[in-house]
Amino acid sequence: MPVVTRFAPSPTGSLHLGSARTALFNWLFARHHQGTFLLRIEDTDRERSTEESIQAIFKGLQWLGLDWDGEVIFQFSRANLHAAAARRLVEEGKAYYCYATPEELESMRAEAKKKAQPPRYNGLWRDRDPASAPAGVSPVIRLKVPQQGATQVLDLVQGSVTVNNAQLDDMVLLRSDGTPTYMLSVVVDDHDAGITHVIRGDDHLTNTFRQLQLYNALGWTAPRFAHIPLIHGADGAKLSKRHGAVDIGSYRDLGYLPEAMNNYLLRLGWGHGDDEIIPRDQAIAWFDIDHVGQAPARFDRARLDHLNAHYMRLLPDDALCEQLAAFLPSALDATQRRRLDRALPSLKQRAKTLVDLAENASPFLQDAPLSYSQEAQEVLRLSGAPLEQAFAFLETAEWAPEALEAGLRQVAEQGGEAFGKIASPLRWALTGCRVSPGIFEVLEILGRAESLQRVRTALAFQERK
Ligand code: GLU
Repeated sequence: MPVVTRFAPSPTGSLHLGSARTALFNWLFARHHQGTFLLRIEDTDRERSTEESIQAIFKGLQWLGLDWDGEVIFQFSRANLHAAAARRLVEEGKAYYCYATPEELESMRAEAKKKAQPPRYNGLWRDRDPASAPAGVSPVIRLKVPQQGATQVLDLVQGSVTVNNAQLDDMVLLRSDGTPTYMLSVVVDDHDAGITHVIRGDDHLTNTFRQLQLYNALGWTAPRFAHIPLIHGADGAKLSKRHGAVDIGSYRDLGYLPEAMNNYLLRLGWGHGDDEIIPRDQAIAWFDIDHVGQAPARFDRARLDHLNAHYMRLLPDDALCEQLAAFLPSALDATQRRRLDRALPSLKQRAKTLVDLAENASPFLQDAPLSYSQEAQEVLRLSGAPLEQAFAFLETAEWAPEALEAGLRQVAEQGGEAFGKIASPLRWALTGCRVSPGIFEVLEILGRAESLQRVRTALAFQERK
């Protein structure tokens, strides 16, 4: 049977890392099996669902390159079908109208609390004749849950998990205003879409018992379930805002590449031996549910940085430049573009994120005079004779990396200084930074006129002794 998976987010906030990982696993599983991956927006909570959140979900999935098949399914638009399924169950005697009043429900809750039990409905209307319904109460529809036996989930990640039916009360399928509950909608939608595998966070495991009962009552075959452990922060607590950015859009803005994010999310809870670097094609070829771990994975920013640095180095310079554009203060003119093209191979060896890269590229995108930081000004103020000698040499030097290197080394030697005594202030003068690509490369990229102008401005700080 061809595999059909789905990602079914509720559009009530931004796209969380955990949800993005769920989407990725469903996508990979479908692509691995040449199946279908559907996107269903679970927008039945009308108060909390927002258009902004729907757009954030689309944008996040598009950024990650997780394309879905066919049209997006909006759950709310199918509410009539959900309600029809509930009414069918009533006709078949598998569900019933319940007219319990808020006071009655409250006293059931109080009763359960007294016995230190979870709140549960006591079956008040299960066998009552609807003819005895009180006037003026709009009923809900409840499923007649079997009271004997047990319900077992054979989960592809968690293994066999069983609950006694006596622990499950008769759940509401249709509210008194005629709107379907999540339990009902999700089962009808998954069935109608022909979903074969439901891969989702293990916070939904307990819902699965109820959903299985609904599948039984409706006479439908249930899909296979795979509940993946949630992502935790470094401290072992469930990943939340207090651990820092938790939504996918923030990581895009922090300068991570989608390739790195996909690789990182894949490794959060799934493994293939010791392989860390798993590009997309390889991920599609290898992905399976058997290797999803049972223990919660811990989010580790340093590993993400490491992967991002790797994918940035791997990206052809043109493509990297394109990605970088969004992180630069303005569009590049021809000179800036030329300098960046020449600096990029070195710059990308050092940066962890596009934000780092943009920062490290900034000395090449400015024109003299640079605005020096306090730290740079202090170094330049104390730079003394070596920087003056370097300037004198650069005025007439042959402008080629080897000649610049040989000449500057000679200047240092003649002055009886270690080479670093020249290189360090020169680097500060040329870039305003402590680290940069090799100093000869920097000189070459900037060219003589720009380099001299920068050193001249820098020397002016010496006069402010
Ligand atoms: N809408 C649910 C959520 O966002 C997911 C439901 C499901 O995957 O079955 O948590």
